[in-house]
Amino acid sequence: MADTNIPSIALNDGTAIPQLGFGVYQVPPDQTAEVTTAAFEVGYRHIDTAQMYRNEAGVGEAIRSSGIPREELYITSKLNNGFHRPDDARRAFDATLEKLGLDRIDLFLIHWPLPTRYDGDYVSTWRTLAEFVEDGRATSIGVSNFQPAHLDRIIEETGVRPVVNQIEVHPYFANEDARAASHRHQVSVEAWSPIAQGGVLGDPVIGQIAETHGKTPAQVTLRWHIERGDIVFPKSMHAERMRENFEIFDFSLTPDEVAAISGLDKGEAGRTGPNPDTFDWIPD
Ligand code: NDP
Repeated sequence: MADTNIPSIALNDGTAIPQLGFGVYQVPPDQTAEVTTAAFEVGYRHIDTAQMYRNEAGVGEAIRSSGIPREELYITSKLNNGFHRPDDARRAFDATLEKLGLDRIDLFLIHWPLPTRYDGDYVSTWRTLAEFVEDGRATSIGVSNFQPAHLDRIIEETGVRPVVNQIEVHPYFANEDARAASHRHQVSVEAWSPIAQGGVLGDPVIGQIAETHGKTPAQVTLRWHIERGDIVFPKSMHAERMRENFEIFDFSLTPDEVAAISGLDKGEAGRTGPNPDTFDWIPD
């Protein structure tokens, strides 16, 4: 890593991932190169994109113009929902590498399990991702939005463990079942929408803790994730917020503060995104 103080999380395949990264969901494709370049300037080296976001090419442009040595970067992308069949997944993965301008990606994920599509077969999709590790074009593979039963099944049927499960987690939606299932399999948790797209920032409990530390609600919320061991990649279009979200390694929360924030969990009512058991959307 560059001269940052971002901790690394050891993954179950012997590799490591920076615990803090930058997410580009909802960054418009024509602004992605500029926004990702701004994130690199702040110090981010881990970028989370997806085929579905349609902005991999912008990330690729920023990588090329940054001059940052490849080994200092950690790049993740995800298989789009329309490409679960093995041949489609192979073609889509080729396109991801081409758009990113890379001959190897650090991490590639199945974006959604889609258990009601493809005759419920996300196992052959998972086997296909394993080919990309075998041929050296993906260093690691993982999943996203996998419920406990989905995780159990791919591991049992293929013997291949994902390195991460990227799931919705924030103070209003702790998603403990999926977190616990991931941990049971030594699969690291990546928490998406870590600040609930801003939805938790007005919370009085978080506000009070932020005041105590002289930090912002976003910084306290991101720090809560870090102390629970999850990997996060907040998104922002604004350089000053990118910097704010990056400056979370110069303070820590007390166990009571962590517990108070965990106590804000609303269960299913706190979920902001789709339920992975029923989500079946395939983009055009
Ligand atoms: P986040 O929880 O990261 O929140 C982003 C929103 O919060 C934006 O509207 C941003 O506004 C605002 N914001 C960011 N920082 C601050 C701050 N310091 N103070 C106030 N507001 C702030 O939401 P995301 O949904 O983007 O999640 C993060 C990443 O997780 C995504 O970019 C993507 O990589 C991944 N993800 C994965 C999913 C999956 O299915 N696997 C689903 C959803 C997300 P602004 O941009 O205007 O600054």
